[in-house]
Amino acid sequence: MRVLVIGAGSAGLAALRHCVKDLKKSAESATIGTRKISEVVCYERCDKIGGTWVYTEKIGVDKYGLPIHSSMYDSLRTNLPKEVMGYPDFQYDVKTTKSYLTRTEILDFLERYCDHFDIRQYIQFVHNVELIEPSLEEENQKQWKVTVRNLKEGLTKVEYFDAIMVCNGHYFQPYVPTIEGNEKFKGKKLHSHDYRVPDAFENKTVVVVGAGPSGMDLALEISKKARNVILSHHNKDPIRTIFPENVIQLPDIKKMLENEVEFVDNTRREVDVILYCTGYKYNFSFLSRQCGVRVEDNMVTPLWKHLLSVENPTLALIGLPFYVCAFSMFDLQVRFVVEYWTGKKTLPSREQMVAEETQELEKKKLQGLKKRHFHMMGPEQGRYYDDLAITAGLIPLPPVLTKLHNESSLRFLEDLVHYREDRYQILDDFNFVQL
Ligand SMILES: Cc1cc2nc3c(=O)[nH]c(=O)nc-3n(C[C@H](O)[C@H](O)[C@H](O)COP(=O)(O)OP(=O)(O)OC[C@H]3O[C@@H](n4cnc5c(N)ncnc54)[C@H](O)[C@@H]3O)c2cc1C
Repeated sequence: MRVLVIGAGSAGLAALRHCVKDLKKSAESATIGTRKISEVVCYERCDKIGGTWVYTEKIGVDKYGLPIHSSMYDSLRTNLPKEVMGYPDFQYDVKTTKSYLTRTEILDFLERYCDHFDIRQYIQFVHNVELIEPSLEEENQKQWKVTVRNLKEGLTKVEYFDAIMVCNGHYFQPYVPTIEGNEKFKGKKLHSHDYRVPDAFENKTVVVVGAGPSGMDLALEISKKARNVILSHHNKDPIRTIFPENVIQLPDIKKMLENEVEFVDNTRREVDVILYCTGYKYNFSFLSRQCGVRVEDNMVTPLWKHLLSVENPTLALIGLPFYVCAFSMFDLQVRFVVEYWTGKKTLPSREQMVAEETQELEKKKLQGLKKRHFHMMGPEQGRYYDDLAITAGLIPLPPVLTKLHNESSLRFLEDLVHYREDRYQILDDFNFVQL
């Protein structure tokens, strides 16, 4: 089986690590399954591993005319402790006593992961996957036809693969809400995807739209330069954290005027900049319609376990769930996929896969959630990890990850200014302590 991995971010690296493991096992004829991975190729459009952790000052397009992928800002420190940001079989250096790391420390970690498992050799950098479609040709039936561009040389080639892990990331295509009067507003508007440093906000009045992790962090960071920051959001629960005096909270924007913004409580403020921290849209523009995966109100469907295409199970979309312990979940998802692709496990019927997805969606609807929340895990993440592990008979993720993730999320809401000073130690699969 010839496997393609798209992207060499933290998900793509986990995909490579496990495919290569199977590849090596196959070479030793040790696999129990009926199919063996014979070749793995990873195409990465950038010239480095790390995906969104590769910081660049640039915004807009890169030198090849492609949209800048990374949404990283200069001062970023993780919003989760390193104790839940490792891979199951590769952890952060225990000599690092702090828990919340900088972006460069995460990138260093990914570099070390890459070297430790010796997977860099499988990555073809500066190669952009442009189109994936099921092959209709007689000799390549049941294969994927992949059009890939070597960006440096400007040359396009077509290749065939038996299975594909899509690891293209989900934080690069900004979602911007439609707001009345948007075109009238004369001030500056930008999305957090294009935010790098706070300098341009000196003495300005800035509306930060959205109070997710980026909105909260950036409201705080910008408040050090800006005259005033208005954090506009519709969170159900009030944000308990104590912000600096020049940060106020207001509800959603009702409309924009030339130099003002009106909020749904009818207050009006003069505003210089609107910074949208309104999240991202899933984007698989390189998947042709025939691949059988579509995005509906930001729900990617039809998929089995948020992961495998129901129509074409040799297509796997790694990393869709959010509010998760990302790197560990990527690892688990990849191990899950490899079990099925190599025939150690047999897929359920198409009807069963669809029924499972429908049931989960119905459950979420009863909880008042929309389709766009379908891949949101949060407190539910442990259930998802256990389901994957039990279904495929895999080593599960330790429950302490979910526990610590939830604890950290609470601390973030309670004390945004100081929570990153917390330090944790994991004691065993179930327990952690705060140092
Ligand atoms: C600002 C910010 C802060 C974050 N902070 C945290 C945090 O503190 N803790 C945490 O756990 N998570 C955090 N995340 C989430 C983070 O995105 C995930 O943890 C994880 O790094 C995602 O990895 P990925 O491999 O799925 O995607 P990415 O890191 O986005 O990697 C995708 C890769 O695919 C490549 N690619 C895309 N399309 C193509 C194509 N067509 N052809 C070839 N290559 C392609 C890209 O160039 C990229 O290298 C943060 C995200 C952002 C944006």
